[in-house]
Amino acid sequence: MLLSVRDLEVGYKVGRRIIHAVDGASFDVPRGAIVGLVGESGCGKTTVARALTRVIADNALITGGQMVFDGRDIAALPEREMNRLRWRDIAFIPQSAMNSLDPVYTVEYQLNEVLRRRGGLSARQARMRSEELFEMVGIEPGRLRDFPHQFSGGMRQRVAIALALALNPKLIIADEPVTALDVIVQRQILDQLRELQSQLGISVILVTHDISVVAYVCDRVVVMYAGRVAEAGPMAATITRPAHPYTIGLRNAFPDLQGAADGMLVPIEGAPPSLVEPPPGCRFAPRCPFALERCRLEVPETHVLADGHSAACHRSGEADMLRAEGSKTQT
Ligand code: ATP
Repeated sequence: MLLSVRDLEVGYKVGRRIIHAVDGASFDVPRGAIVGLVGESGCGKTTVARALTRVIADNALITGGQMVFDGRDIAALPEREMNRLRWRDIAFIPQSAMNSLDPVYTVEYQLNEVLRRRGGLSARQARMRSEELFEMVGIEPGRLRDFPHQFSGGMRQRVAIALALALNPKLIIADEPVTALDVIVQRQILDQLRELQSQLGISVILVTHDISVVAYVCDRVVVMYAGRVAEAGPMAATITRPAHPYTIGLRNAFPDLQGAADGMLVPIEGAPPSLVEPPPGCRFAPRCPFALERCRLEVPETHVLADGHSAACHRSGEADMLRAEGSKTQT
């Protein structure tokens, strides 16, 4: 396993209150796999992604858990070692990567910053590597001296991928890499990410609110709800046979990336709970069409359903019936 996250807790201090943005999340990222981290806005995906690079907001605090990456716990590494790990071992593509390229510098200059300052390459080596990286992401190397505004949105995203690949990391964390793009460009970028990932044998954590993006490109999926992991497993099994009512709901709420919906799209009614004082029991219970009294009182344990597939739901043993009921609400 390249990365094992166990019982991760991250909070934000706002005045006297703590927002428990991530509250006991556990999941694994195998070597050479694309893992989708999916859930509604505010469920804690970006907080997990940033905790993994330890580039967190000033008011954020990692209060518990482990993030064992390649045998070392990221949560416990001294900052100097963590700094060495960034870009070289773990590269992060932030949410607004497409717009976060610095408009006043050429793309080559920005690649140089990583290659020379972080990677210690000479000017000549950096030039060669930049050209190689541009070829890898399908951009004509002659465009290295262009400024970000001279590229389309999709191309800027490719530049962000090139930057992330610069120092041959073992893991890339991409936060909503295709959200702002139209569906055709989304597919092109995801195809390219998949191709590069399998060529280079790296692992990718793909953060997205869109389960169809996960279904299109990921090997595994981790579904988050209100700071916790609701369900995790191999992509095909989890999407075709979801065992948590939240995942069933998500699946019914998105069209697939080919543009075809398997029926009518049904949004999940209601809103996620407060993360300051979350409800006892299952956090999804107030919105869950299958909730029992017990669900409102007892925090569900994570049940292993099959190899590598697990769900934190009291009723995961009845998943076949819940799915059948869930799809009836679609028609
Ligand atoms: P999105 O897709 O909208 O980014 P997300 O699933 O990535 O959502 P996070 O950005 O991790 O969610 O946010 C989790 C929770 O923490 C949310 O309730 C959010 O409002 C809160 N939060 C995030 N950053 C801060 C901060 N710096 N200070 C206080 N609260 C924050």
